Amino acid sequence: MLTKNQIYEATIVDYTTEGQGIAKIEGCAVFIPNAIVGEVCRVRIEKAQKTWAAGKIVEILERSAHRINRECPVAKLCGGCNFWHMDYEEECRLKAERVRTCLNRIGGQNLTEMPILRAPTCHSYRNKAQYPVAVKNGRAYAGFFKAGTHSVVENSRCAILPPEMDLVKDAVIDYVNQFRVSVYDELSHKGLLRHIYVRRGAVSGQILVCLAVNGRKLPHVPELTRRLKKIPGFATLVLSVNTKKGNTVLGDEFLTLYGEGFIEDTLCGLSFRLSPRSFYQVNHHQAQRLYAAAIEQAGITKSDTVLDLYCGVGTITLAMAAAAGKVIGVEVIPQAVEDAKENARRNGIENAEFFCGDAGEAALALEKQGVHADVVVVDPPRKGLNADAIEALVRFAPRRIVYVSCDPATLARDVALLSQRGYRLQNAQAADLFPRCAHVESIVCLCKQ
Ligand code: SAH
Repeated sequence: MLTKNQIYEATIVDYTTEGQGIAKIEGCAVFIPNAIVGEVCRVRIEKAQKTWAAGKIVEILERSAHRINRECPVAKLCGGCNFWHMDYEEECRLKAERVRTCLNRIGGQNLTEMPILRAPTCHSYRNKAQYPVAVKNGRAYAGFFKAGTHSVVENSRCAILPPEMDLVKDAVIDYVNQFRVSVYDELSHKGLLRHIYVRRGAVSGQILVCLAVNGRKLPHVPELTRRLKKIPGFATLVLSVNTKKGNTVLGDEFLTLYGEGFIEDTLCGLSFRLSPRSFYQVNHHQAQRLYAAAIEQAGITKSDTVLDLYCGVGTITLAMAAAAGKVIGVEVIPQAVEDAKENARRNGIENAEFFCGDAGEAALALEKQGVHADVVVVDPPRKGLNADAIEALVRFAPRRIVYVSCDPATLARDVALLSQRGYRLQNAQAADLFPRCAHVESIVCLCKQ
């Protein structure tokens, strides 16, 4: 076991899924934030366990050519981003490598290369922000959680958000401080304002402001809307009632205080209505490229029925509708299904159907009713597919399965399961939808053997 507080010399050999550097010291894996593969560092051990330890760089003895000066002043403290200390080339390399090694080690593949769709910019790309609100010296402020904690790091200008989002944050905080609106405190479960949630249409520029509150009412609403109306694109203000303990941002009830309660955006040439609760990829440009890759890999023909499981507001489903005979989307969040149906209607798409329910259960039910699917698209949350979903896929026996994933480890697990049930991995690529952050998206196509 390594000794706490002792300083060791170490070479960084790999990265964790959170993007920390990994070094091997006396057979022990040491996790070191802000370290780059190839660097030789003096590392102080902060926490020591039998098989692993956590350390901090004290001095860099051999600096990586990929190390850069951080553009973001709070990057080291803020838990939002992970990679401001390295160039984008190294970030893309490590992300592609993570997808490749997961598919090989967990997925039983033997891939020697992994292409990655690189983002054209690392700046202002996000179309959604969630700022937790806190109080310091009697004044409210908003920012982002420090990694692994619930303390809020203030950041006046976040580099990955469009400036309009920070204007919203500043306007809300100004109102909160002027009218002494109480701020939620996790420990006592008292106070009103919990999170400022902002969504902005990348093409439309429309802004939805949703305040997550521990209550049902907000004081002096006209004063708040007066401030928000000065921000270009502001379209609607919604309260999300969240009186539950825990760290879920949005509650289940939404009260519209100004505007229509949703915004619109254009994606893949289609118009989409977006409610606060509906999922919508945060990186518009890269999402379009990801969906284009999904469409290409699906190889759909006019006589095909396409089933899109975990369809959200119907982005992929509707983008595939023109090429297919029929498309069917399944999604568990009722508001998202409502959005999806409305989105089909507003784009004049008549060959799309949407169902609300658990993807696995709904797919099994559809199969029992005699529905068939030539191609199935799945885009599950991080936990990947459950046993029902895998079973449904096997029963549908589609020609192709296109799997869009936000977690390469669960993707690889599911690829292994599907390979045992007659599906062969035909194509795999990584996509960077979250520049400077550790998450990586990937897309694979599986063909029936
Ligand atoms: N394909 C869509 C959404 C992908 S995100 C897009 O790219 O825009 C994953 C979606 O799965 C979310 O909308 C989430 O609400 C939904 N979801 C989560 N668990 C689910 C389940 N068990 N069954 C069906 N949908 C689920």
